[in-house]
Amino acid sequence: MEQAVLVLIKPDAIQRKLTGAVLARLESLDVKLIGAKAVRVDHALAEEHYTRLRGKPFFDDMIRYLCGELHGVEFVVALVFWGEEAIRQIRHVAGATNPEAAAPGTIRGAYGCLTSGGRMENVLHASSDESEAKREIALWFRPEELLIQLP
Ligand code: UDP
Ligand code: MG
Repeated sequence: MEQAVLVLIKPDAIQRKLTGAVLARLESLDVKLIGAKAVRVDHALAEEHYTRLRGKPFFDDMIRYLCGELHGVEFVVALVFWGEEAIRQIRHVAGATNPEAAAPGTIRGAYGCLTSGGRMENVLHASSDESEAKREIALWFRPEELLIQLP
């Protein structure tokens, strides 16, 4: 089934100039890019994006990370891909959440790091399932910013 997925290239990757490397890996998949932009992330947007994780011990730190405050970065790159099993394809190449556990061939395995404080700086976000993807895409993009109208 064709589906959409939101990807965010996170501030650690922006700071380290890994946007091109990450995009090259995503471009090699059988998915189409249907939306892309640079976005300045404030706390309200980050907290809404990660609303399901409110209350977790790492929540505040993760919000500051996504806002770029920990890397001196002013934006993230937000992307929407569309394709057959796009979520599975992208999460497979992204690798495990914890970069220490991510396979070396994955994006997080290659470029992610676990800080000494336990924060997972893992290069990119990818929606976890179709309902989250729909919610997240509506949060980050207006319909007219996408190349196709999503179902
Ligand atoms: N995270 C973290 N420590 C944890 C779990 C998550 O720092 O123990 C951060 C990490 O950056 C992760 C984000 O919180 O990407 C969202 O967590 P989620 O479980 O949704 O992982 P993902 O879907 O990004 O693999
Ligand atoms: Mg998630």
